[in-house]
Amino acid sequence: MSSFCELCGRKVIDEKKTVLIDGIAFNVCKGCSKRGKPYTPPVSVTNTKPTSTPSKIAARTIAPTKSTSPMRKIDMTDNTILNPEYAKLIREARMKKGLTHEQLGAQMNEKAGLLRRFETGALKPDELFAKKFQRFLGIHLYVSIQED
Ligand SMILES: [Zn+2]
Repeated sequence: MSSFCELCGRKVIDEKKTVLIDGIAFNVCKGCSKRGKPYTPPVSVTNTKPTSTPSKIAARTIAPTKSTSPMRKIDMTDNTILNPEYAKLIREARMKKGLTHEQLGAQMNEKAGLLRRFETGALKPDELFAKKFQRFLGIHLYVSIQED
């Protein structure tokens, strides 16, 4: 396959060179190659390929360091556990306030039946519920086990 120098227009017989002139790659003859910087084409790492994995891997290696600090805030399971006495705690706190399941449920915007199930220990409140109970009853259902 014969090609022509993009600078002088001569047919390139011996060796076609690619050089960078003002950031643009030119296919030039040997003589014209001195006018630009030697250009080395990128080794198959182009973003045009959708299947190229190198960029994905690079992004992944950066991701963990970014996400570790916000993750820890949410991840309570490491050092906090649900108080095994949670059922008793909820019931006692509710009775102290003189509220029925219905009344407390209405305040918390939750079904009374759900509160009953928590108080019987049939259902374990997740962290979201624990926060609600904390807000409405002032009880802490998740306890830290860090001191152990
Ligand atoms: Zn030339």
